[in-house]
Amino acid sequence: MEEGEPLRFNEAKSGPNGGKRGPRVSWNEQPVRFVVPVVVVSALVLSGLGLWSMLRSRTAPAEQSVRRVFVPAPPPPESVYDTLRTGETLAEVLDAHGFSPQDVHGLIDVVRDYKNPRSFRPGVVVRLTGPPGGRAEQVLLQLNEDSLLTLDAHADGWASDVATVPIQVDTLLLGGLIESSLWYAELSGQVDRLGEGEFQEYVFDLADVFAWKVDFTRDIRQGDAFRVAIERELRPDGTVRTRRFLAIELRNRGRVLSAIPYTRPGGRRDYFDVEGEALRGVFLRYPVPYRITSGFSNRRYHPVIRQYRAHRGTDYGAPHGTSVKATASGTVTRAGTWGNYGRMVAIRHTRGIETRYAHLSSIAAGIRAGARVDQGQVIGRVGSTGLATGPHLHYEFLQNGAHRNISTMNLPSAPALEEQYMSEFLVNRDMALDALSGVALPAAASDFVGPVVAD
Ligand SMILES: [Zn+2]
Repeated sequence: MEEGEPLRFNEAKSGPNGGKRGPRVSWNEQPVRFVVPVVVVSALVLSGLGLWSMLRSRTAPAEQSVRRVFVPAPPPPESVYDTLRTGETLAEVLDAHGFSPQDVHGLIDVVRDYKNPRSFRPGVVVRLTGPPGGRAEQVLLQLNEDSLLTLDAHADGWASDVATVPIQVDTLLLGGLIESSLWYAELSGQVDRLGEGEFQEYVFDLADVFAWKVDFTRDIRQGDAFRVAIERELRPDGTVRTRRFLAIELRNRGRVLSAIPYTRPGGRRDYFDVEGEALRGVFLRYPVPYRITSGFSNRRYHPVIRQYRAHRGTDYGAPHGTSVKATASGTVTRAGTWGNYGRMVAIRHTRGIETRYAHLSSIAAGIRAGARVDQGQVIGRVGSTGLATGPHLHYEFLQNGAHRNISTMNLPSAPALEEQYMSEFLVNRDMALDALSGVALPAAASDFVGPVVAD
């Protein structure tokens, strides 16, 4: 049997279209190809020669005769597939395929060198290959999304080999003309290379990158547009292993915003505009990624107490149990139950700023007065404790003790890129913008001046 490429990984999606997504194939669906045994080939060649000489002998008397040889070929091996079911162990799967207890033991022992045999999740596919009706001589097992373990029977046990799924890197260029929200965009560019649900992921990421410049719940207009260059690592089955933006451009209400990533040495990856100004704010835009159901107001009808009163915070309609994140690092000043707030957490930040997170169903372990929290750290979960009609997060932002409206105030930005990184950033930026030039920023219908057609 042909070794090394029984799954034809190398052939997958390597045509001129690069990562073009064809019908999704997973490794277990690939037909297994076998090399015709050498004996069969020689038998065919020899019989072919015999036939040829017979034909020839019609025109000329045979000077010599070719001996015709028939060598019976062994039946080709067969492969069967099995899937690990919930509650089933790998040993049980092997056992069900006629392996002796010693074989099962030996196989599991080898597997253990690579991965705890108990940690295989339901759905893992096992391929067993062997003579028809006989014991499998090869077992192929998916260790994880990126590697396959092959076990081959030998006289004295099982030989193992791990093959890493080859990863292909591509650059995906997309444009989008927004119809109503970022979710409803008319896509252009390499749309055919997008996987299912992949664009939705980019919408989340893109909204994150510009969260400090654009309020995607209210600032987006029909005719706004974007274009992105994305670097992806693709598996042979077309699934995306990693992805990152190389550059983004967003046209929003007439202005064009750019985002170029840069990672400071030892730091995290951040986005900057073309001048190297940080796009990120010192605070996260929101503690939960959900719609604002009630904004900041000095006079609002309260549905529970049935009175007009100020709403000095922002409500996010998030499902019960949603993780709530600290919008900036700081020190917890309060964690517990506090009147109408219900279960709540308050955090003190720099510059006299305090944030409050109310109506929580639970407070995360370790979150207590005096504890340090990092930006983005989960401090609790959405609930409806205190004065709340249903699950939502009530978020307050105070500066020097006064409640502030986060949707209208200018929150401080993160520092611009330091001078010493600027020259490297500018080189990266130019390459990124170059990549982006491969797709057009879609023009709004009203911007489009086409030939006048009379009819
Ligand atoms: Zn509220």
